[in-house]
Amino acid sequence: MTPERRPFIAGNWKLWGTRAQGGEYCDRLLELLPDEGRRPADVGLCVPFTALDVCVERLRGSGVKVLAQNMHAEDTGAFTGEVSAAMLTELGVDGVVLGHSERRQYNCETDRALQDKVPAALEAGLSPILCVGESEEERERGETQRKLRHQVQEGLDKVPVERLREVTIAYEPIWAIGTGRVATPEIAQEAIGFVRALVGDRSKEAAGEVRIQYGGSVKPENAGEILAQGDIDGALVGGASLDPEGFARIVAAAEP
Ligand code: PEP
Repeated sequence: MTPERRPFIAGNWKLWGTRAQGGEYCDRLLELLPDEGRRPADVGLCVPFTALDVCVERLRGSGVKVLAQNMHAEDTGAFTGEVSAAMLTELGVDGVVLGHSERRQYNCETDRALQDKVPAALEAGLSPILCVGESEEERERGETQRKLRHQVQEGLDKVPVERLREVTIAYEPIWAIGTGRVATPEIAQEAIGFVRALVGDRSKEAAGEVRIQYGGSVKPENAGEILAQGDIDGALVGGASLDPEGFARIVAAAEP
């Protein structure tokens, strides 16, 4: 990370968190985190739809951001089971994770749909985290850069140049998600440096400003060395974020 880009640590609860659990978690996390002004990073929680309003309420005034884990690009229409950006902003939600590999794998999320979702989120005042990353087979076949190029170009295609800096990108190699196999700091840095260069193809200025997180088996024990890499501006943390103590330690690891 560089001094110009403030690190951003986001916890992704995935399919975890009833309203009661979410509320308790937020109260505990606030006991553990330093006050906003003394935090080494921006902090966010990616929460199931049903617990969003509880978390917004409990975290009000704390500076901890609340994000949804998906949304639809359209405002309204025949899209049963979907949730729009306006439905999220009405609850006071700050942002949304888009294109998580689990949604790509299990819910048919496509780059084409993300092309509309990312600008729709920005338009509505939500801060998007766009997830990209290669599978193990793609890495072994030497296709990592091809995959990242495709995902980054498609996902950002309809984002106006002047708004690129408002998107956070999470580089999450699929082989590292939920597997305990964290990427080495060198592999993560190399891929994230490449993603930054891709943003630079649109705008050199935006490339210097956009925050790019690493995600994939980040734990309190390995967070420090990952966050110390020059192009890595934070982490998207799945499993380890479910323990508020461990998550607060990961936030603390962003201290330069
Ligand atoms: C994630 O959910 O984005 C993630 C990186 O999960 P984990 O930290 O469990 O690998």
